Amino acid sequence: MKESRKLAKRKRIALVAHDHKKHDLLEWAIFNKAVLAKHELIATGTTGKLLEEKLDRPVKKMLSGPLGGDQQIGALIAEEAIDVLIFFWDPMEAQPHDPDVKALLRLAVVWNIPVACDRATSDFLMTSPLMHDEYEISFPDFSEYLKRRVDH
Ligand code: PGA
Repeated sequence: MKESRKLAKRKRIALVAHDHKKHDLLEWAIFNKAVLAKHELIATGTTGKLLEEKLDRPVKKMLSGPLGGDQQIGALIAEEAIDVLIFFWDPMEAQPHDPDVKALLRLAVVWNIPVACDRATSDFLMTSPLMHDEYEISFPDFSEYLKRRVDH
């Protein structure tokens, strides 16, 4: 199994915001429009539609989060097709798709991609020099796990 992969200069950024956090994400995206312009944007359905309108640029849209969009983004992370996750989840409200939210955050950590869940961390990410350079991310060593014996 590969031990690392290289993130290109132009990153594939996934953006997801729960309903009460959409305003925050859109405001943040407008503020960071110039930086975001250098990268490819992927989003859950409704978040993507709103970002397209506000930023006046194309955003690759998955299904809406509760309909499977979070899981699609998670799958793209596992397939190495997402480099950065900006996920404004709502800490004040239970979601119908809470298991999917947890799964998405889990996969981001499994594959060691940069993740931001609030505006402050997202600002730190966007102003990092690594955002505009190649960067090698290492994967945790899963070889022992993959070789494990399973009784059957
Ligand atoms: P939405 O999904 O962008 O389609 O609203 C976000 C989410 O709740 O995961």
